[in-house]
Amino acid sequence: MSVATERDAWKLVFAVTVVSVIFSLLITYLVAPEGLTYYAMVPAVAVPLIVAPPTSYFVARMMLRIHRLNQRLEYLVRHDELTGLLNRNAFFERLEQLGEGVTGSIAICDIDRFKSINDTFGHLAGDATIRKIADTLRDMAGPDGLVARFGGEEFVFFFPNVALDLARSRAEAICAEVNGNPVRIAGKEVRCTLSIGLSFLEGKQTSDGALALADKALYRAKNAGRNQVVLSGEGPETTVADAVRKGTAGS
Ligand code: GH3
Ligand code: MG
Ligand code: MG
Repeated sequence: MSVATERDAWKLVFAVTVVSVIFSLLITYLVAPEGLTYYAMVPAVAVPLIVAPPTSYFVARMMLRIHRLNQRLEYLVRHDELTGLLNRNAFFERLEQLGEGVTGSIAICDIDRFKSINDTFGHLAGDATIRKIADTLRDMAGPDGLVARFGGEEFVFFFPNVALDLARSRAEAICAEVNGNPVRIAGKEVRCTLSIGLSFLEGKQTSDGALALADKALYRAKNAGRNQVVLSGEGPETTVADAVRKGTAGS
């Protein structure tokens, strides 16, 4: 019997008490020389009635506590603690659950010049900013959209069965929402911008492959001046490695 609620705990107490009384009566009937006389029945009923409820209540409380700790653990394993969004592992797990061959748009989203927010207002204010932006992303992901924090100030979306063009308008709406709603920190308004790289996950492609393309697009969004959405395949793909190879990194 699993104990998942207070009600379950009381059900367990009741069941254990009833079973204890029946068991005690049975034992008494079997071993008492004169069988179930009144004098034999009184202790046979009274002892389990006194002992079973507190002991089973104690055990039920422990089981309830373990159940709640397990639930919390399961939540923590799958969610980012700061924002409550899915974490990286859970994002891929949920993507897998959508089935093999799932298609849709993947977006990698990074807060622009976030380091300067930390440097100017402090780390706690930086955390508050990340939380506020995460709330906006969660609200705007839509009922089917998956949104995860992959670490730092980087978030990933998956819009199942959404074509790139529509995903672009959603991503632009997200950028506009974040930019249009400054975060209040220490009495000051901090306006953040986002850069977003988008790619399309096709049925035969791996999610890692689609993410890598979205990451390249994000890199181009940063290079093109930030605060914008760039689609994978829009213009020449350039990676840090390409830039280093071509000797244009940092230029
Ligand atoms: P860019 O526009 O190129 O993305 O610049 P950036 O400053 O946003 O990027 P950079 O990678 O230089 O800095 C990211 C900063 O994010 C550095 C790191 O201290 C900060 N950061 C990462 N995780 C957290 C966090 O959980 N809380 C806070 N407050 N800051 C974080
Ligand atoms: Mg950044
Ligand atoms: Mg970053």
